[in-house]
Amino acid sequence: MTYPTQPKASHFIGGQYVEDTAGEVIEVIYPATGAVIATLHAATPAIVDQALTSAKNAQAAWAAMTGTERGRVLRRAADIMRERNHDLSVLETHDTGKPYQETSVVDATSGADALEYFGGLAAAITGEHIQLGENFVYTRREALGVCVGIGAWNYPTQIACWKGAPALACGNTMVFKPSEMTPLCALKVAEILHEAGAPAGVYNVIQGYGAVGASLVTDSRVDKVSLTGSVPTGKKVYAAAAEGIRHVTMELGGKSPMVIFDDADLENAVSGAILGNFYSTGQVCSNGTRVFVQKGIKDAFLKRLTERLEGVKMGDPLDETVNFGPMVSDKQRQIVLGYIKKGVAEGARLVTGGQEVDGDGFFIQPTVFADVTDDMTIAREEIFGPVLSVLDFETEEEALTRANATEFGLAAGVFTNDLTRAHRMVAGFEAGTCYINTFNLAPVEAPFGGSKLSGVGRENSKAAIEHYSQIKGVYVGMGDVEAPF
Ligand code: NAD
Repeated sequence: MTYPTQPKASHFIGGQYVEDTAGEVIEVIYPATGAVIATLHAATPAIVDQALTSAKNAQAAWAAMTGTERGRVLRRAADIMRERNHDLSVLETHDTGKPYQETSVVDATSGADALEYFGGLAAAITGEHIQLGENFVYTRREALGVCVGIGAWNYPTQIACWKGAPALACGNTMVFKPSEMTPLCALKVAEILHEAGAPAGVYNVIQGYGAVGASLVTDSRVDKVSLTGSVPTGKKVYAAAAEGIRHVTMELGGKSPMVIFDDADLENAVSGAILGNFYSTGQVCSNGTRVFVQKGIKDAFLKRLTERLEGVKMGDPLDETVNFGPMVSDKQRQIVLGYIKKGVAEGARLVTGGQEVDGDGFFIQPTVFADVTDDMTIAREEIFGPVLSVLDFETEEEALTRANATEFGLAAGVFTNDLTRAHRMVAGFEAGTCYINTFNLAPVEAPFGGSKLSGVGRENSKAAIEHYSQIKGVYVGMGDVEAPF
């Protein structure tokens, strides 16, 4: 049986779809029903080689184009993505299970934003001139070469664009490997870039499990690896990339704090906690899953949060009124249920949720724990599901110390109406992405990324250019050369 979601072939290399049925089977499962909606094959060594050869061969000519020309391709691709937003959003919903209500405003649209932003920036990527008396130095900002992108399963279109757009703007070519859980959307990104005029080989997509990712990272043709994934995978990929002194960007996991002070606007704080815990069914790396609530506002916060959760509508993610989808897989759901059990066993108070939902899809209730303490497993480990933990605190100093008492450092947020306290907290947070009186927004104009175990490098904004290019310094002698003998 052929499903409408079945792509023409598993891989997109050198401007066309390519298949090698000798590769391990990848079944794509629609998380809302458990149905197999496409069957793909992981890349064989021959496919990996074809993709890297294609990217390598295309790179010099792509880099030799002017930034304006490269940018025009990216901006055209952005326009195509926006025109096809509906179809791309339906595909994203099938790939991930996220509700169409979300995908139609977040995924292809933020992918298009990245293509447009870096398309606009491409022409402005320049070196500088440094005068040294009559001599001078100029710098050339050059591409790195072939970049490998490896994606997680929560935002397959966005991740493919967040890595591809700055890489291509700088004159690199890319081989992107999506997560084996969500292999469909990146193929569309490749198709669209090609349609927009990207020469064959500039942006390639190959499928595979971790082993395919690992084989890309150590290939001598690869100059940079950008991974979005978990900390354990990040450690492996970073170490493997180090063997060839390759550039890396690591966008890894988190256990981010959200600190809500007594003086915060209650409704906004509750909205922030909902966005930072339940959007995409909690499968967001920067989620503020440790919600520190000052004692004076705790009861009101929990009451209002519980009331607002009555607005959750679970069901067919393609129904535009549904705002809460399934987990990406049953495996992920079982992991989350395991954490919920541990939370109860270790003495946290289950305020609401905690149960899986009967049926074929991988649904689970949005879950809130109160009276959580710092030592509990649910307060220490990344759950990557809809589980919010409320922790009590009394003073600002205490909140900051406890917020930072984690090996992760992806995001952190504060809700308060005290202006100076907000900025003090942000200055003290050990996190790469901070929020004041909001949470989890990630526009392409702003840098995004983590500190500590949550990663290195930044995606988005002008900062991403630093991570997809290198500087060559050129000293120009205008006079005679002085030598000691
Ligand atoms: P994962 O680490 O299991 O897999 C990520 C990707 O790495 C997949 O494509 C996988 O096939 C590949 N991979 C696995 N082993 C590999 C290896 N040895 N070498 C090369 N590639 C390998 O992560 P996941 O479960 O897909 O995603 C969830 C994780 O991603 C969470 O920890 C989440 O916080 C994190 N994440 C981070 C960000 C961010 O921007 N910081 C964004 C989304 C998700």
